[in-house]
Amino acid sequence: MFPSLLPTYNRADVAFVRGEGPYLFAEDGKRYLDFGAGIAVNAFGHAHPKLVAALTEQATKLWHTSNLYRVPGQEALSKRLVEVTFADTAFFTNSGVEACECAFKMARRYQYVSGHPERFRILCFEGAFHGRTLAGIAAGGQAKYLEGFGPKVDGFDSIPAGNLKGVETAITPETAAILVEPVQGEGGIRVLAPEFLRGLRKLCDRHGLLLIFDEIQTGVGRTGKLFAYEWLGIAPDIMAVAKGIGGGFPVGVCLATAEAAKGMTAGTHGTTYGGNPLGMAVAAAALDLVLAPDFLPHVQAIGNYLNQQLSGLLSEHPSVFEEVRGQGLMLGLKLKVPNTEFVAAARKEGLLLVGAGDNVVRLLPPLIIEETQVREAMAMLSSAAKSFEAKSKTQNT
Ligand SMILES: *Cc1c(COP(=O)(O)O)cnc(C)c1O
Repeated sequence: MFPSLLPTYNRADVAFVRGEGPYLFAEDGKRYLDFGAGIAVNAFGHAHPKLVAALTEQATKLWHTSNLYRVPGQEALSKRLVEVTFADTAFFTNSGVEACECAFKMARRYQYVSGHPERFRILCFEGAFHGRTLAGIAAGGQAKYLEGFGPKVDGFDSIPAGNLKGVETAITPETAAILVEPVQGEGGIRVLAPEFLRGLRKLCDRHGLLLIFDEIQTGVGRTGKLFAYEWLGIAPDIMAVAKGIGGGFPVGVCLATAEAAKGMTAGTHGTTYGGNPLGMAVAAAALDLVLAPDFLPHVQAIGNYLNQQLSGLLSEHPSVFEEVRGQGLMLGLKLKVPNTEFVAAARKEGLLLVGAGDNVVRLLPPLIIEETQVREAMAMLSSAAKSFEAKSKTQNT
């Protein structure tokens, strides 16, 4: 019999019933330390009292009205996001890929109203991930996500990251924009060099292109700054944000400069649910948390601590771990054993991790973790590593 739930996921056989800070509790009562945070979503842990209060308070008042009317929560949150970022304007969505889609449409529309309707192509990078709609998989360019879903949406050209000369060569009279994740998440926590990213800014300026950052995973404090572009001393023209901004409630946003957004006039784009009052209430409370004076310094400090501890772990288990990479609390361990098996072994120990490309496991803990949780994670990572070392010993003898 075909499963009642479309079987597009290879799910781990565990179901959680409750969460508290960085911990999750399964049906059988077992406690897990959550270093996946629902794929970088639960930035403030589970059941954060401020987020719970914001959601429940809004839930008693009003859930949904539609974008046919003014939505005060959107007006207030957009003002705050404009104040704390490069952007002049915001479009709210329900997911990351919709924030990307808004960015793609905005870039094409910008060129169209600038007298360049022929410029519609977006340069993207190999190893990227931009979501799972038809445009999202075209932008990501990964064969495994595109297979069988052709024809591929036209207008997305994937090229290798890291080589500015190659990027300049790939720009054609039809290019509208360059799209990049400052740290590739799904691709395996690949931190793109600051000089490369700053070089993309220069290329965009020189060729009349828009620079689009996908900060869906890197944003909202994950790298130790509110957004990763702040580390670079440059800013994009358009930025897609989601994941952490709702702390677990589905919220996304496409941020842009007034210039980049100049074509997006009334009637050009829309969404039924995007920016709904529930999402806006939670996102406003999440922004309060991440903007509290001690929050980002904490992420930087605890991120450094975790990074150091992981380096120590690496030298203790050289047959299991190859490399530590990442920034802030967006860290990856490149493995010498299959990452899917390692994720399962860590879960057995009570630690949740997330796999990524390039045989990497991602450590994406809630940004509120403390040193005690880092030490707990280290003990569990070490036990998981030992289970592989024991295996290779028995194989060798
Ligand atoms: C998760 C992610 C997306 C897609 O977000 P959805 O909410 O799943 O649509 C896009 N880009 C990046 C960088 C992501 O990490």
